[in-house]
Amino acid sequence: MAEKFIRLSDSIYEYLVSHSVRETDALAQLRAETATHPQARMQIAPDQGQFMALLVRLMGAKKALEVGVFTGYSSLSVALALPPDGKLIACDVSEDYTAIARRYWQLAGVADKIDLHIAPALETLDHLLQERQAETFDFAFIDADKGSYQHYYDRALQLVRPGGLIAIDNVLWSGRVADPTDQDKITNTLRAFNQKLAADDRVSLSLVSIGDGLTLALKKG
Ligand code: CA
Repeated sequence: MAEKFIRLSDSIYEYLVSHSVRETDALAQLRAETATHPQARMQIAPDQGQFMALLVRLMGAKKALEVGVFTGYSSLSVALALPPDGKLIACDVSEDYTAIARRYWQLAGVADKIDLHIAPALETLDHLLQERQAETFDFAFIDADKGSYQHYYDRALQLVRPGGLIAIDNVLWSGRVADPTDQDKITNTLRAFNQKLAADDRVSLSLVSIGDGLTLALKKG
């Protein structure tokens, strides 16, 4: 029986990237600089950045949210896909990581599209809700501490409009969520999150095996 999916090898992945990924100079430079960072594995893959940019363009999104900036590859990908009057509200707790992000936002000419909030993201999201920004966002990307994913998702679901999209990163957790012998705390947290989302009638759902697993949740009208 033919496989229902393709197992990516290094060479297939190289092929995929070399035949599809179109990084701007700023994205390529940011990826290269971040590759030398001690936390380099927190950077999303270039094909994932481009996929999210495509989603943003497809939706005609103008207002986006990001929880977890790190050095800014995903925010730069999304901001480049937003129209000139688009806005990305970006949340992170690290001045150090986001100092790198800011440099590349400047370099790429999208710094004026991005509002960076250095604070615990739940505070920023609750503040946005208090400011009556519920249902004003088109797109949200969640890629921060996994222990708070459920809280980030609950807020994001309030903040996106009906028809808005929430993308959640690392949901396959290197495959560990599918290994019942793995009882690590974060693995179990992600497992519970995935299970809850699978049954969440408020959204249409797709779990895409790009990067470390990306769940797309489209808020129903
Ligand atoms: Ca991630």
